[in-house]
Order: sequence, then C-alpha cells, then structure tokens
Amino acid sequence: MAGRGGVAFGVAFGAAGFAAGWGAAGLAALFGASPFGRCTVKGFLHFGHLMERPAGGTRESSSSYAAAQFGQEIFTRRRPEVTLASACCLANETAGLSWYRRVLMRRGGRAIVIGGGLAGLACARELGAACTLLEAEDRVGGLCRTEVIEGFSFDWTGHWLHARDPEMRALISERWLAGNILEVQRRALIYSEGVWTTFPYQFHLHGLPAQTVADCLIGFVKRDTERPLRNAADFILRNLGDGFARHFMFPYNEKLYTVSCEELSPEWGGRFIPRPSLDDVVRGALGLARDEVGYNATFWYPRQGGIESLARGLVKDLSGDLRTSARVESIDPGRRHVTLATGEEISFERLVLTIPLPAVVRILADAPAAVREAASWLQAVSVTVVEIGARESGGEPFHWAYFPEARFPFYRIGSPSQVNPALAPPGCRSFAVEFSHRGTIDKAALIEKALDGLIECGLIADRNVILKRARTIPVAYVLFDHACAAARTTVLDYLSAQGIQVAGRYGRWEYSSMEDALLSGREAARALT
Ligand SMILES: Cc1cc2nc3c(=O)[nH]c(=O)nc-3n(C[C@H](O)[C@H](O)[C@H](O)COP(=O)(O)OP(=O)(O)OC[C@H]3O[C@@H](n4cnc5c(N)ncnc54)[C@H](O)[C@@H]3O)c2cc1C
Repeated sequence: MAGRGGVAFGVAFGAAGFAAGWGAAGLAALFGASPFGRCTVKGFLHFGHLMERPAGGTRESSSSYAAAQFGQEIFTRRRPEVTLASACCLANETAGLSWYRRVLMRRGGRAIVIGGGLAGLACARELGAACTLLEAEDRVGGLCRTEVIEGFSFDWTGHWLHARDPEMRALISERWLAGNILEVQRRALIYSEGVWTTFPYQFHLHGLPAQTVADCLIGFVKRDTERPLRNAADFILRNLGDGFARHFMFPYNEKLYTVSCEELSPEWGGRFIPRPSLDDVVRGALGLARDEVGYNATFWYPRQGGIESLARGLVKDLSGDLRTSARVESIDPGRRHVTLATGEEISFERLVLTIPLPAVVRILADAPAAVREAASWLQAVSVTVVEIGARESGGEPFHWAYFPEARFPFYRIGSPSQVNPALAPPGCRSFAVEFSHRGTIDKAALIEKALDGLIECGLIADRNVILKRARTIPVAYVLFDHACAAARTTVLDYLSAQGIQVAGRYGRWEYSSMEDALLSGREAARALT
C-alpha cells in the first residue's frame, strides 16, 4: 500500500511542481536524481521532434488496436509529445520502482517470474535484483518478437503500439524506444463486396452498394435497444442493428473466433465496440465521416528492429537473473519450487506466471480436480500467419485490412512495409495474412489460399513472390464462450489462494494489448509486496 502511496505522492508532487511553475533548473534537479541518468530537460523538450511519419502514412482512417479486432475503442488519442507531466511521471515511476525493490529485498524473498514476454519483462524490471525470469525460448519477447528473412522483417503478426498510461508512455518513448519511434497515421480498411472502405465499418458505409447501406441504416434505426444481452449476437443487434450485424459484425467475428456469435458471451469484447450515433452513421454513409471522432488516429512503431526492439529495450532495464531456454515443466506451490525441463529445481518465495492459464494448471502440482476441470474449459483460437514478401505492384495501400466475407478464408491482412518501409527491401511490399483456426491446419494449403486472396484483391501481381512462409501462434485469442468466465474465475481464485500472481494476456486469460501486458506485469510485481 505504501508503494502505491509513493506513486500517488509522486504524481501529485509532479503536478504541484508544474503548477508552481518550476523552471528548467528545478526539473534538471529532479532528473539529476533519477538513476536513469539519461533524462535531461533538453531531451524531454526536444522529444516531440524525434517523431516522424513514414511515407504512405495518411489521415484517412483511425482506430485503436482493440478496434483492430472488434471495431473498438479503448485508448485515448494523444500525440507522443513529451510534456512536463510525462517527465515528472518518469521520475516518479523511478522513485516508486526502487521502493518496490527495496521492500521485496528487505523481506528476503526471491521471486520467480515465468515467461519472458512483455508482461514477464515488465514484472522482472519492477522486481529488480530480487527476481529470476525464466523464459522457455532462446530469447525473450514472447509475441513481441521480430524475424528477419531475405530482407523482410515480420513481427508475430503486426504489433502496433498504443499507450495511454502516462508512466508507460514515458518509459516507452523516452527509454525503451528512445530515438527509435515512428508515429504513424493509421490507414485501416475493410474489403467487402469488392470495395475498399475505411474502418470502422459502422462509421464508414460510403462506397458500399446502396442495398447494403440501406440495410445498415434501416437496421440501425429499427434496432431494439432493450434487447436482452445473452450473447455477442444480442450485443451487436442491440447496439448496431441487423444490417451491420449481417454485413460485417457477424461474419467477421465468426471468422475470427471460429464459432457463431450466439456461442460467444456478451463479454467477448462488446464493451469496446464504438457505438455510432445516428448522425455518425448517416454522415458515414454520405462520405462525411469525421476521422477524428471517437477513435485513435495514430500508433507507434519502432523505426528500426521491428517490435522486438521494445522487448530489447526492456531487457536493458533488468537487474535480476534472466534465463532463456529455461522451460518450466512443473510448479510445486506447496514446496515452493519450480522444475525446469532440464530437471533443475529452483526455489521461490514469490511466483508470477505469465504463461497461458490452461498450461499453468497442467504443470501445477496437486491442483484440485475442480480446478483442473475448470482449466479444461478454457479454450483459445490459434492464428496462422502467412508471410509474403513481394515486389510492389501498386495495390491498395493500407496498414491492415479486414475481410468479413466467407469467400476469403483469412480475417485480416497486414502490410508491415506500409507502416515502416524499413521492414522490406526497396521496391518491395510485405503482407501478413492471418487465418484463425482451432486444431491443426495444413500450412502449405494456407499459403496457397493467401496468394489466391492477394491476387484477387489486386495486392500482388502473380504467385511469383520473393518470400512465402507460414507461422502459427497456438494460443492467440481467448475464446470467450459461455463457459469461459466461470472457469477462469475458478482457476484464478485457486492461484490467488496459493499466493501466486498472474499477469499478461494469457496469464490473466483476457483480450488485451501490449501496453496492458506491461501494465499487468508491473501491477503483479507491486502486488507481491
Ligand atoms: C494476432 C495477434 C495480434 C496482436 N496485435 C497486437 C497489436 O497490434 N498491438 C498490441 O498492443 N497488442 C497486440 N497483440 C497482443 C500482444 O501480443 C499481447 O498482449 C502481448 O504481447 C502479451 O504479452 P505477454 O507477456 O502477456 O504474453 P507472451 O508474449 O505470450 O509471453 C509469454 C512468454 O512465456 C513463455 N513461456 C510459455 N510457457 C513457458 C514455460 N513453461 N516456461 C517458461 N516460459 C514459458 C513464452 O515463450 C513467452 O515468451 C496481438 C496479439 C495477437 C495474438
């Protein structure tokens, strides 16, 4: 509690300093006390100039990462300008951080963090020297990793960065990715009925066939706003009406989640869906939509090194033990040790898990049958990404585009080189074609389907591409079916009773972003004290 108080104090302190009209000397003194060392007044004041837009960035569309999945809005929209407030946040964050470390070390407790994705890295950073981070793979980053092959760089599908938390914004932009950030004006599209339109669909009907526009408008006006909410389908019909449901929301979500919207619980993500007013829908239908309304216009992306450079930046901040190629094969909460695949046992006082919840229960010694049963109900959707590197052929420019129609077996195509041209050789364009599925798939067949789709949409000239390969993320999206919420609660309650913290998208078994993973790792560390 005192730690949280410390942070709260810091924020108030920063604001008070600002209100009192601190000059550069006062701020310099503040930063001089920071162990970051590199934080200078000059650097902060000039930071805004480090931002650039890559070629091709436009103002045409805007939404958030969450919107990318559901037509959602969760993040505030702000330019990454460094202000006195963000400078103070960074200094305050530093003070709070050392406080947590001191408390944990005073208690003599060694913490183990399992999983070196963003959540695990943020947690380990917070815990400092009193922590051992165990990562199964040969390098950290988890989903936040980038592969370079034949001059093309691919993340584990495009990872676009939004940050709303002031401390996190400051850490990302002034420390982990300092001098290495592009601010990109988003261009997200939808391809349906042979037309490219702007995302989100419900704000941008203009250009679609007249019958579709009429269906959506009439359905919106006639929607039953009192409809009971039993599932995702009810949520969509209640808020958007049957035209939007039929032409976009149902087919898109059913493709992404591999089940019907009736099988998804209303908590599947509905709370994030931007709900237009009648004014918004009509304006969108007439081509008068205002991009600035309601959703993010920009995101961050590293200038060099792909999204993995964020994880690399974080690693530099770790002061505890980091062990890669260290897969945990069992956890014994009673004897308080974990066992690695090599047979090595490591003791812990405190434990933070960032690995998928069902996998946790599989390796947890002595979990009660009810907990194992609950974990068996937790389902996820896999994503196989077909990565294509091709010569630029003048197709529709976009950062990513959604494909609701059943005739396309993929739900989304990203184009990383449109976000940052450094991700492809000169004169080339890259595509990440995303297929969701459950169970195994035939990767070679998906590569062929991806090429068919790219040709059909005019994005590549022919099958003679430079690079084509497929990678699978086995646990990509939590499937929010009707069994999920109760099963998740049973498992989380049990872990909590064992004194085990969870963090991250898969440890918490939720739908969330990179920033959420960072924040939850930080919070899990703070909860240990
Ligand atoms: C298709 C897709 C697209 C996305 N796009 C975006 C985006 O554009 N913007 C955005 O903000 N977010 C995006 N996200 C979300 C983002 O990837 C996650 O929120 C974030 O990376 C999760 O980090 P994490 O640390 O919680 O989990 P992970 O990155 O999964 O890290 C978990 C780590 O645990 C390790 N591990 C697993 N088992 C063991 C074991 N037994 N022992 C030791 N280590 C183990 C794994 O190797 C991994 O490194 C996307 C996610 C997906 C699936």
